[in-house]
Amino acid sequence: MVTLLDETFAPPSERWLNRYASFSGDWNPRVQAPVATPWQGDALARPRWVAWSNELASDMGWPDGWRHDESLQVFTGNAVWPGMSPLATVYSGHQFGVWAGQLGDGRALLLGELDTAMGPLEFQLKGAGQTPYSRRADGRAVLRSSIREFLCSEAMHGLGIPTTRALCLTASPQPVMREGVETAAVVTRVAPSFIRFGHFEHFAHSGAAGHLDVLRGLVDYVITHHYPDLADAPNRALALLQKAVDSTADLMAAWQSVGFCHGVMNTDNMSILGLTIDYGPFGFLDGFDPQHICNHSDSEGRYSWQNQPQIGYWNLRALATALVPLIPELAEDDQLIIDVLKSYEHRFPLSMRARWRAKLGLQVLDPEDGQLAVDLLSLMAEHRADFTITFRRLCDYRADLSPSDPVNAPVRDLFLNREGFDDWARRYTVRLRAEGSVDAERRERMRRVNPVYVLRNYMAENAIDKARKGDDSEVRRLHALLQNPFDEQPGCEADAGFPPDWAKGISVSCSS
Ligand code: AMP
Ligand code: MG
Repeated sequence: MVTLLDETFAPPSERWLNRYASFSGDWNPRVQAPVATPWQGDALARPRWVAWSNELASDMGWPDGWRHDESLQVFTGNAVWPGMSPLATVYSGHQFGVWAGQLGDGRALLLGELDTAMGPLEFQLKGAGQTPYSRRADGRAVLRSSIREFLCSEAMHGLGIPTTRALCLTASPQPVMREGVETAAVVTRVAPSFIRFGHFEHFAHSGAAGHLDVLRGLVDYVITHHYPDLADAPNRALALLQKAVDSTADLMAAWQSVGFCHGVMNTDNMSILGLTIDYGPFGFLDGFDPQHICNHSDSEGRYSWQNQPQIGYWNLRALATALVPLIPELAEDDQLIIDVLKSYEHRFPLSMRARWRAKLGLQVLDPEDGQLAVDLLSLMAEHRADFTITFRRLCDYRADLSPSDPVNAPVRDLFLNREGFDDWARRYTVRLRAEGSVDAERRERMRRVNPVYVLRNYMAENAIDKARKGDDSEVRRLHALLQNPFDEQPGCEADAGFPPDWAKGISVSCSS
């Protein structure tokens, strides 16, 4: 690995903050690891730029010419800029409900934390080679899964949903063995923090000497850098748990509202900041099926669309269990932690109802709104009405006309049982009238929360097919499209339509 010194753009070395310094140390399998181990990427031959986000670069205050030969090497793991001190971190986790023990950044490398115009951000390479936590896997990510992660990170951001970002995607012809031979790629991810529930679980459950101090250090670290308002909380661990409860509840509501299925909601894939993290076998709902399972490996449907909010809660309980040793007050009053956890039962439905209300274009709060939304969803499920298309067409619903008026046919015709729709639509109309809703204004409001484009599996698949043949144009086209998912874009009518029949045959599963 070489350190490059050049005239071309590189962040000034003093901007790399090295905030994990107090947590870093050499990996020693016998005494176990500190949080982070200094590490380096394994070189990948002949990298190319596949896609990148100029919007993110510019928000970070980077110049237009940030992509050049040198940054290509840096964002493939082949070089470092002065000031960077790459690390791999250790975490554990519950996978599919079972304690999996130590995992860690098996194929992620934290390049460092950079002070940017958006504030300090962590940079992470995914797929830059083996680390001490690779557990005999190869530390690589293939082009296929990297395109999916790049596109979906930026698509979720476009939808306004908290997520880790993707700055760029590079690819190399270097072969990687999966079910067949594929090729390697690296996604540069950017986030305020990549700390997961699993980081806390690791230090709570290992039993190794000194690990509770590290656990306390982790809580302090997250509070200092991400929640300074909690600095004086009577119990910091409890206060951080409350933040995790709130942000996770809001995130689950956000996912549900766009029909996003994460696919692998293991505790090691849950961000302490409530960001969507680790895009693997995710999917967006097509025809609405609440039991939809997007991950081929999830045979029991633990992570089906309808289970996600409940699993969010399950994962928070695992986080709470990890934090218990830091809350001595529980010896006196265990209700303290139960109350914090239970607040999820209020926060999630509140957040969810606000989302459904917005999707229906309702502005005034009414206790019946939840039911109105649930009844629409039941009808949609009965008819497998397309999730995205139904809500988008509902924006154009004319409440001043009868539900069966031909003008309302585009949404009505999505339901085989037209009368069922008419009944619901009449209730919707009454509800709209009660708040003096004006169709044209409601339409505009609804079009800002009901996307016209989401990253359906078949779209990613088309982009992957081309990129494998060396043509990255479809990846870039989709990236541009999904940056503005609420605006109809000329020439992109097919992307707004129903998925083709062959899409049903696509199957995606865990790590690739
Ligand atoms: P995931 O299912 O992608 O969240 O991964 C679960 C765990 O396996 C994490 O600790 C990953 O770092 C690790 N992992 C997945 N794929 C690889 C790989 N190809 N090489 C090394 N570690 C991996
Ligand atoms: Mg993961």
